[in-house]
Amino acid sequence: MNIPFVDLHRQYLRIKDEIDAAIAGVIQDSAYIGGDRVTQFEREFAKWLGVEHVVACANGTDSIEMLLDAFGVGPGDEVIVPALSWISTAEAVGTRGATPVFVDIDATYCIDATKIEAKITPRSKGIIPVHLYGCPANMPTIMAIAERHNLFVLEDCAQAHGAMINGQKVGTIGHAASFSFYPGKNLGAYGDAGGVATNDAEIARKVRMIANHGQPQKHTHLIEGRNSRMDGMHAAVLSVKLRHLDQWTDERIALAQQYCYLLEGTDLVLPTVPIGMKHVYHLFVIRSQRRDVLLGALSEIGISSAIHYPTALPFMDCYSRLKPRKEEFQNAIEFTAQILSIPMFAELRQSELVIVSEHLIQSSS
Ligand SMILES: *Cc1c(COP(=O)(O)O)cnc(C)c1O
Repeated sequence: MNIPFVDLHRQYLRIKDEIDAAIAGVIQDSAYIGGDRVTQFEREFAKWLGVEHVVACANGTDSIEMLLDAFGVGPGDEVIVPALSWISTAEAVGTRGATPVFVDIDATYCIDATKIEAKITPRSKGIIPVHLYGCPANMPTIMAIAERHNLFVLEDCAQAHGAMINGQKVGTIGHAASFSFYPGKNLGAYGDAGGVATNDAEIARKVRMIANHGQPQKHTHLIEGRNSRMDGMHAAVLSVKLRHLDQWTDERIALAQQYCYLLEGTDLVLPTVPIGMKHVYHLFVIRSQRRDVLLGALSEIGISSAIHYPTALPFMDCYSRLKPRKEEFQNAIEFTAQILSIPMFAELRQSELVIVSEHLIQSSS
């Protein structure tokens, strides 16, 4: 038996004709970097999201870094980030020469908004909430805190395309948002790609300039920027996939509901979704005291599962200089020892989902 964690080939087969035609078009026009397809995808994504400006770029990490640059973050500044995320969220702060200030997570696995204010200092510049696994962070509370302390809010939406709070899409609530279109994300290109979304014209202008060597126009370099452009092929693929994204999200949610139905009543802790929030299940993460036993049992029979992530960010070697105190990150420490991501993608078959659930029930109880 082989039940994959995610299977991008199955997704390709569903839309093969559209994808093949889109890629052939890029080659036909030799439109390899930037160009009309990128502009078109920016417009389509902005419309789908409900935001004024989208700037396409090379990957999701760049989108966070360039936004931090646009917000003027540099040495001596502090930016508040959750203790659990992919490294990029904190790394982008550190590589600006600023300091990531970690805050513990709550039962949704997102930043615990009630613990943010205690970490604000005169050096604080902003907050980066991450809508982890596709579950929205507590944006109403975070925005109120940011307003009180005059901080920017950069939403890390890399795992949350289409997630909503009271009907409003994440990525439109903070001052700006970063997106990743890494192949395995809910909306993924055929290589690295990313984007920035904002209603702030000035932030959008700055990011666009940074992403193209500091040029507002050709051969005029106002600042030293970088090369972070999106390839035409990725834009063409993303435009095709964007047309299907809402359906794929519905399918993910239906699968998540079935997992919850089948796994209810076991000792497994299922995802917590606060009222008014739409979770888009980039990952379906359960929790167990016997996580490593479960992972081994699943892998033995050919079911792929994974851990996102085994170590909380404050305890990574690269942050040892910050001397994190374990008492401040109790949830992050406890949860990272218990979390397990089980197969979740729109094309996961009903029969596969049942097999995964049955094996979890057998090996947990
Ligand atoms: C994937 C991811 C990123 C970075 O995106 P890349 O496109 O891989 O650079 C940032 N933050 C989170 C939460 C992610 O999951």
